[in-house]
Amino acid sequence: MLTLSQDDILLGCEADEWRDALERAAEALHQAGLTAAAYRDGLFAREAQSSTFLGNAIAIPHGTPESREHVRATGVRVLQFPRGIEWHDGQRVHVLVTIAAQSDEHLDILRQLTHVLDREGIAERLAAADSRAEIAGLLSKAVVEARLDADTLCLGFPARDARELALAAAARLRQAGSVGNGFVTAVADQAPRPLGQGLWLVASQHDVSEPALALATPEGRVHEAGEALAGVACLAAQGDAHRCLLERLASLLENGGAAELAGADAATVLARLAGERAGSATRQVRVLNAHGLHARPAKQLVQVAREQGVAIRVRLVEGGGQAVSASSLTKVINLGARRGQRLQFSVDEAVDDERAARALAAVCRAVTEGLGEAVAPFDESREHHLPEPEAVIEPLPEDAPQSAVAASPGLAIAPAFVLRTPRFAYPERAADGAAEKARLEAALREGEAQLEALVQQARGGEVAQILSMHEEMLGDPELHQAAREGIDEGASAEAAWWHAIETAAHAQEMLADRLLAERAADLRDVGRRVLGILCHVEMPEPPDEPYILVADDLGPSDVARLDTSRVRGLLTARGGATAHSAILARALGIPAVVGAGERVMTLADDTRLILDGERGRFTAAPSAERLASAEQRLAEQHRREAAAWEARHRLAATRDGHRVEAAANLGNTAHARDAVERGAEGVGLLRTEFIFMAHAAMPDLATQVAEYRAAMEALDGRPLVARTLDVGGDKPLPYWPVPKEDNPFLGLRGIRLALTRPGVLETQLRALLMAGAPAAGGPEQARPLRIMLPMVKDIGEFRAARALFDRLLESLPEAERATDVQLGVMIEVPSAALLAPSLAPEVDFFSVGTNDLTQYTLAIDRGHPELSAQSDGLHPAVLRLIEMTVAAAHAHGKWVGVCGELGSDAAAIPVLVGLGVDELSVSARQVPLVKARLAEFDLAEARALAELALAQPTAEAVRDALEVR
Ligand code: PEP
Ligand code: MG
Repeated sequence: MLTLSQDDILLGCEADEWRDALERAAEALHQAGLTAAAYRDGLFAREAQSSTFLGNAIAIPHGTPESREHVRATGVRVLQFPRGIEWHDGQRVHVLVTIAAQSDEHLDILRQLTHVLDREGIAERLAAADSRAEIAGLLSKAVVEARLDADTLCLGFPARDARELALAAAARLRQAGSVGNGFVTAVADQAPRPLGQGLWLVASQHDVSEPALALATPEGRVHEAGEALAGVACLAAQGDAHRCLLERLASLLENGGAAELAGADAATVLARLAGERAGSATRQVRVLNAHGLHARPAKQLVQVAREQGVAIRVRLVEGGGQAVSASSLTKVINLGARRGQRLQFSVDEAVDDERAARALAAVCRAVTEGLGEAVAPFDESREHHLPEPEAVIEPLPEDAPQSAVAASPGLAIAPAFVLRTPRFAYPERAADGAAEKARLEAALREGEAQLEALVQQARGGEVAQILSMHEEMLGDPELHQAAREGIDEGASAEAAWWHAIETAAHAQEMLADRLLAERAADLRDVGRRVLGILCHVEMPEPPDEPYILVADDLGPSDVARLDTSRVRGLLTARGGATAHSAILARALGIPAVVGAGERVMTLADDTRLILDGERGRFTAAPSAERLASAEQRLAEQHRREAAAWEARHRLAATRDGHRVEAAANLGNTAHARDAVERGAEGVGLLRTEFIFMAHAAMPDLATQVAEYRAAMEALDGRPLVARTLDVGGDKPLPYWPVPKEDNPFLGLRGIRLALTRPGVLETQLRALLMAGAPAAGGPEQARPLRIMLPMVKDIGEFRAARALFDRLLESLPEAERATDVQLGVMIEVPSAALLAPSLAPEVDFFSVGTNDLTQYTLAIDRGHPELSAQSDGLHPAVLRLIEMTVAAAHAHGKWVGVCGELGSDAAAIPVLVGLGVDELSVSARQVPLVKARLAEFDLAEARALAELALAQPTAEAVRDALEVR
């Protein structure tokens, strides 16, 4: 945004007439190094088109779009002419705000200046000002708008009263980043005040970073003080910027519209709060002008609106701005509408339908026709994805290994196939709405059929689950409805569909938690499938030979569609290790490196690549020598995989017979049987939060018992280590919202969160114990159950959970619960490892979560796109913590497992065994390889390697030392 500083202001200028003044302004821009001399012609050409006089003695000269090539840097020069000059349209001008802008930044200046236009006496004050500070002060009052948009709404919240709703609204403001904890506390301390019509208000100025209004409405019918509760407005007040929001609430009440809020969707709520009445006729239209609604098109719009003879209001659909009179130039300019944004026009319900429709059609037509400017249709899929034209991307060097994020292990060597996103060309508007709807219906049906076929091909597992989710998204009646409404307003099927998708994806992206926000990629993926069908655009055909797929980013269904017989690996410019596409790549066993930067898109098809998904490295156009060595490693990898698969059912032990259990990590109980088939000797980590995430609401006791029992039955007497709910941090649970935190990884998560709702923890423990009740076959059918608590930091948290657990054990008759049961803790917070000697006497076992333990020990976010490669569990600091943990456990006869990713790292396995770890729990695919690796060394060797590793100063030194051995 352009801002005005005092250095930008030239006082006391003189000019005989407007041309002189404009020459001086052009010279001032040039002197400041903002423009080339030729920009002057652009300024004159622009005045020849129409006057840039704005009002109140101010003109804002700026160049034509063609002259922007002469702009060297965006900036402004303000020239004060105390004696005034007559502008070419006859207006008196005292100040020229001359703009050099490379894009549409001048809109921001316009918005800042609109407040000046409404003020009495400002022209005189600008003329008489004798200091630059005074002029700057008069012109640059910051536009502070209180926030109200879809992200500050919390609709259909399951609250029991106004107080709970008030807290939900405050939490929403904190999630939106408008307030801090102090605000939430202040709201918690006050009783909501009734505004009437079932609407209540809480407000505070405490800990507010931006003024904003949140509105929470209840799920179903809730009564407060004998009246149906419509909602609670929660106001974050600051200065007087929130006053207009209060006025909006007041006019909503005046119109008797508050009661309608309960049960309404976000669009309706925002419309009512924007001042649109329920019965108003409305119509939306997209702004097509390259530089948005700047002064000239805004003037035209105002003229058309005035000609209609009815009061027309207009607002931006995006955001929650107030509807303003379409006949007010300053208000229309102040909307700051940019190309691609949609305007909603409305005419009050008092006007007869036909007249309102005619007026709305006229203003929408004028906007579509460009308001006096030549306009191009807006293609959202294209305009949002085009790279910056001036961005010059350096090509990748040859034969030089590059580092990125390791997303799925394995080595791959193959030529590149670079997937360039297809362009969808389609008309923005279409006349025959019925035909467009029929085309959309047909495309939706075909999309469904395609997805169904893919689900069948996937035959279960994660791939099928994600594709089924896509099917559900595609069938969403709200998306269909939004697209049909777009068609009703004259959009083509393509434009209406893509717009519906973008709106929904954008809303998803706004969610505070990363995993939910990543589902926006799924939505766009579904959207592109239908768009491709509508536009008859086929995805580029990959070669018949094996290849490494290179792409900007891959949608989950792109990965699911991959022909695994030909795709040897994935390399993407964007994406992180937690993206669905990365999860899928791991599930499919395809090596993947992600987040490698835009440069990968400069690769030519057929460039040979070496991709190391284990280390997150890749090399383009490798030398013959590097290639030969990689090929040797690959051949060795294949040989090892085949041999490991053959021997997968043998007992996991070192070469000299030292037993180390090899178990599987699961997030889905349906995969337990598959894990056993892969040789797993039990489940060493059931991430129960994924079971919870798969349900739309908290699963009840019976549902949980059935889930856990399914896993135990598939395990057929092998142990199940179930971790209690581990939500918060990077694992959100939609129906257990955690208020936004500055550092969620250091916030309310794991056992800390669970202990805030002991009822939930108790139900889960009860379900686990009940699921472990002996089967009808008798005691030989026992189901060994190990329960562990996540993120424990010290004995206090363990004791709190243990007390609950012991009460349950006592209350459940033995025949109805697990008898072979242990309660342990995860060691994933350094304090727990350091305090292992005090934990060990009371727990039954430890399981080291090396993913989090490494993150917290090294202070590196495990999902960080650049740093996560350094987050190496073989760091000697982490190894020392594991050593302490094992020593404490063994001193009390307790066992220790490792269930983080380190457990499947070939270099780390002997070190962990040497440190005394008794169990390794890894992803099911890795179980055969872990067993094979164990059989390659004996215990004495492992102990020597552990000693060696502990003595190193860095993770790299550990890896180097282990490699030499
Ligand atoms: C860990 O932190 O190592 C672990 C196994 O738990 P999660 O990856 O689920 O956080
Ligand atoms: Mg963890």
